[in-house]
Amino acid sequence: METNGHTFLRKALKIVEEEKAQTPLVRFKHPKELEALLDLDVSEGATDAELELCVRQVLQHSVNTSRPTFRNQLYGGTDPYGLSGAWIAEAFNTSQYTFEVAPAFTLIEMKMLHHILDLFGIPDGDGIFSPGGSMSLLYAVVAARFKAFPNVKSQGMRSLPELVLFTSEDSHYSIKKAAHWLGFGTESVKVINTNNEGQMSPSELEDAIERELELGRRPLMVNATAGTTVLGAIDELEAIAKVCQKFNVWMHVDACWGGSLMLSPHQKLKLKGIERADSISWNPHKMMGAPLQCSVFMVRERGLLHECNCAAAQYLFQQDKFYDVRYDTGDKSVQCGRKIDAFKLWMMWKARGDAGLSKLTDHTMNIARFCRNTVAQTAGFRLVTAEMQCPNVCFWYIPTFMREREEDDGWWDLMHKITPKIKELLTLSSQLMVAYTPLRNYKNFFRLAFTFHPVIDEDHVLNMLRAIQECGEKVTLEIL
Ligand SMILES: *Cc1c(COP(=O)(O)O)cnc(C)c1O
Repeated sequence: METNGHTFLRKALKIVEEEKAQTPLVRFKHPKELEALLDLDVSEGATDAELELCVRQVLQHSVNTSRPTFRNQLYGGTDPYGLSGAWIAEAFNTSQYTFEVAPAFTLIEMKMLHHILDLFGIPDGDGIFSPGGSMSLLYAVVAARFKAFPNVKSQGMRSLPELVLFTSEDSHYSIKKAAHWLGFGTESVKVINTNNEGQMSPSELEDAIERELELGRRPLMVNATAGTTVLGAIDELEAIAKVCQKFNVWMHVDACWGGSLMLSPHQKLKLKGIERADSISWNPHKMMGAPLQCSVFMVRERGLLHECNCAAAQYLFQQDKFYDVRYDTGDKSVQCGRKIDAFKLWMMWKARGDAGLSKLTDHTMNIARFCRNTVAQTAGFRLVTAEMQCPNVCFWYIPTFMREREEDDGWWDLMHKITPKIKELLTLSSQLMVAYTPLRNYKNFFRLAFTFHPVIDEDHVLNMLRAIQECGEKVTLEIL
């Protein structure tokens, strides 16, 4: 240490800029190789120059998620305005709980929530920024349970009938974790079949609710999905809303991925019915490119979040403060200290406006459609589903030597191994990081999903598909 850190701070932006520009997508090393290569020991102090070398080495062996070829998950490059916001908020190291310590940031969170609630069609609702979609779902289940059984707050689950939750087979796994964490148990999650496109069947949902009622259980919540993680399917929200209304069951819409389509007046039609939900979760840190973590939990009933979650700590939320304590919003949260996640989103929105974000949404869908059409028309590629609702393109690449063979079970077992092998070759050559997965009865296939940043053009897409083709043709039976 030489400078108390302040000189180093000034260097940080330069280090990031240089390493982002020079670092390839990935220099894959196995854990032991990487450990041997990096200088991670912290027992001796380092000079600033030594520290800089170490930091650069860490970045050089990190995945450069800002490259267009990082398509491994549903996040990627960040919006530069969002990154600025994230840095600025970090630098001011503030906690979101009280107006006292976060006056302007409190107003910003409120402003963003109102703007977003308007956009999603529940202008009289309430909400909170949370550290991710899994957390937002926890908020939803807790709110649904408290609304139905307010005594749960003091007496816990022992005072309640047996509760069940409904979700589709293609929905996100966080509902299982929520069921465990909140004392329902994973067996309380009833899984509803989807159609081929990945949408939950509203009639099977209705049947399942009736069945559970007959068995004497209490259906608490339906978790509909707007943009499933793999196929990008949007459930039929209107039809599901009707079922929920009929049985008086809480309707949550997990719009973590597809919620960004609401930014475009054209695309938002696909989410028709979302305005009937009791609660909604949306991750601006996915498609929209807000820096991790940035998730919004919305709830229709104003006041519920506070009533449900407040603990009224007297040393933090004193009611005899000298200002309007309704601006102390922190007791709506399950967290005590909470990062200023609204600010980075506010900066993105402030810079681009509704119209700028709408344009990015439409461009992202257009690029996905271009990718999909190219996949449909190129020999060796095969799409998994016929429709596309979110910017997810799912497909197999079938190497030439496989194309003339009969597509029996043995053939599909081979395809199940070929897809991960292609992924390995793509990663080791740093050409593309792309997701693969099996789904229901489908063997391993690729998912190329598109996000706002960095802005992708048609050449990028063609290069990605060419890389898959090139690595696919290197696969032989011997190396599987
Ligand atoms: C990613 C995802 C989540 C979980 O969000 P995290 O922020 O990763 O916790 C929930 N639902 C869907 C549909 C998702 O794609």
